[in-house]
Amino acid sequence: MEPEHSAAILKQLNLKVTPRRQEIMNCLGGERSYLSADEVWNRVKPKLGSIGLPTVYRILDELAVAGVITRIFLSDRKQYYFLCANQGHHHHFVCESCRRVEDVEQCGLDGVSRDIARRSGGRVTSHILQINGVCGTCCQEHAEVML
Ligand SMILES: [Zn+2]
Ligand SMILES: [Zn+2]
Ligand SMILES: [Zn+2]
Repeated sequence: MEPEHSAAILKQLNLKVTPRRQEIMNCLGGERSYLSADEVWNRVKPKLGSIGLPTVYRILDELAVAGVITRIFLSDRKQYYFLCANQGHHHHFVCESCRRVEDVEQCGLDGVSRDIARRSGGRVTSHILQINGVCGTCCQEHAEVML
């Protein structure tokens, strides 16, 4: 991700543009897969010099709260992060084997949200949906090993 691009995204969200935030966005933006905080830390350290893991955690948290990056939840309970360029409403299909993230454009939850609102007499404001599994490439590789 170009520095101008990350700066524009931060400004749009009224977040201060700092080299640390930009480098972390650059690191995640260059991947189609999710990374743990440790992995982000190891990649940005050579470029940022003295930055501690707690600071990386704090920045990742800030960026996630602001909606710049997405948290990925897996059964190992570790925290993972993904930066998606797709700004429209969509969900993610996450490969638990190679960590690739594919965009899922169909949502299918409009009807469910309407039903919930009607039944509870309340109002649905948003939803979080992440689909976990094994991607096509990993399934094929696994099948070849089995032959
Ligand atoms: Zn995969
Ligand atoms: Zn996406
Ligand atoms: Zn949706």
